[in-house]
Amino acid sequence: MSTRHATILIIEDNPLNLELATDLLEAAGYTIRQARSAEEGVALARAEPPDLILMDLRLPGTDGYAAVKWLKQDPRTKHIPTAALTAQAMTGDEERAREAGFDGYITKPIDTRTLSQTVARLLGGTGSAP
Ligand code: MN
Repeated sequence: MSTRHATILIIEDNPLNLELATDLLEAAGYTIRQARSAEEGVALARAEPPDLILMDLRLPGTDGYAAVKWLKQDPRTKHIPTAALTAQAMTGDEERAREAGFDGYITKPIDTRTLSQTVARLLGGTGSAP
């Protein structure tokens, strides 16, 4: 199973974080799709399901906690591993994210040395790579 050509949808409203994650993961060989709101991201995921979703928790409009529930309740998207991407490092935050339906949790600032490995692990655990 190869994960090298997997498509990753990044839902992030902060342009610098979106750019950084995109650059790192494109350099690692992934195809990236971008969305800047939960509504845009969920619509993209439904239309063209990616292999992995990285989603910010704090988004304009619908937040990541609500949006992951849309994803996990929809037969078109519920199988897609989805990781929370967030600067929130408060106690209980990861647990809240997992309860909401996230499969993984990536803290910001993004660790440029480990992001692609974390993503490979998230993809590898699901068998959903192309
Ligand atoms: Mn945000």
